[in-house]
Amino acid sequence: MDCPRCTVEMAEIPGDEGTMHRCSDCGGLWVDVADLNRILLHANLPALSGLGGYVNAEEMAGQCPACNVDLVVVEGGEKRLLHYDTCESCGGIWLEGPDDDVEVAETSDWKTSVVEIVAFYKRFKKR
Ligand SMILES: [Zn+2]
Ligand SMILES: [Zn+2]
Repeated sequence: MDCPRCTVEMAEIPGDEGTMHRCSDCGGLWVDVADLNRILLHANLPALSGLGGYVNAEEMAGQCPACNVDLVVVEGGEKRLLHYDTCESCGGIWLEGPDDDVEVAETSDWKTSVVEIVAFYKRFKKR
């Protein structure tokens, strides 16, 4: 699967219950919605549909690496400063990598990625 931003092949991150994909170029993370919901529930967070957020149809997002349809931008968190992209067709979730000045790890394991996801959605939930 290619990164929706950089069109480079993403690295697979195998876990016990699923697989995530990480772009080594931008650090972005592609997660299946079922895996994401499992991760959220484990962290005592509501499932993705319960986290709220606002669809921003004006914002341009990349294309789903699985279905090749345009991704939808969902904004949330304080002052709507956070966003993730999602595919309405397969439910896949794209989380942008860290800012440009942060070094992206060459590889990251499932555990590290889960910590990152939980931290993001904790902030996303806050209004
Ligand atoms: Zn990328
Ligand atoms: Zn899709």
